[in-house]
Amino acid sequence: MIVYDIQNLVKTYPDQTQPANKNITLQIYQGEIFGILGDNGAGKSTLVRQMVNLLTSDSGSITLFGNNIVAVPHLVQMNVGYMPQESGALNNLTVGEALYYTAHLRGMSRVDARQECNALLDLWQIRELRHQPSSRLSGGQRRLLRLAVAIAGSPPVLILDEPTNDLDPQRRKLVWDILRQINQEQNTTIILITHDAIEAEKAIQRVGIMRTGELVAVGRPSELKQQV
Ligand code: ADP
Ligand code: ADP
Repeated sequence: MIVYDIQNLVKTYPDQTQPANKNITLQIYQGEIFGILGDNGAGKSTLVRQMVNLLTSDSGSITLFGNNIVAVPHLVQMNVGYMPQESGALNNLTVGEALYYTAHLRGMSRVDARQECNALLDLWQIRELRHQPSSRLSGGQRRLLRLAVAIAGSPPVLILDEPTNDLDPQRRKLVWDILRQINQEQNTTIILITHDAIEAEKAIQRVGIMRTGELVAVGRPSELKQQV
């Protein structure tokens, strides 16, 4: 089943002469881990911001589960756990509250959201941080919280912009292990941007390579090794 269907997407930022996305056409299938690779400035973050409706497109279309993401309110909010690259604080919420409210917002009852919060605190090994304001976390701790927030309430799709940024090798392994686990156990579709071609190759089933606003190749990581 097609999860995302992206057709002829074009985007130029208002103050730029060169388009950030030139003509992107791409399908993402249910249950796959899809990696977006490419140099800085290739247009990767722009593409995923369009996929979660944070950025409008100049032309082209994006459907999620067959519905246009612009036309259907809350479609992205209810179905996609998105983690932006910049890992800022989550308002004035504590770590526990951020997880609890996100799970509740994605449709869980209060009782279930509390349970989900506790499960996530253990899964991401951040239980001791539950009463800390998110503004007082280190970069690495904040990254783990952001990832935990993205998966809270088990949305069927995850979009993660550089999920292992700011993390030491041990926590990087934790991230890849958890992503593989939820992909296998819940059939979650995971779309991620990464610079880490070597780590990514172990987890990712299909990659798209971007260069100056274009999607230049799509295939299995082993097939595209020379181009990365
Ligand atoms: P990547 O994620 O691959 O590093 P980006 O999508 O961030 O690439 O950037 C693609 C192009 O768009 C770059 O030339 C970048 O300078 C430009 N760009 C990104 N964000 C903005 C913005 N908010 N305003 C103007 N130009 C931007
Ligand atoms: P604890 O009291 O040890 O923190 P709980 O199981 O009661 O354990 O809740 C775990 C975490 O979930 C809490 O620390 C809190 O951050 C969050 N949480 C639970 N219930 C609520 C609620 N009603 N509103 C906001 N956050 C909540």
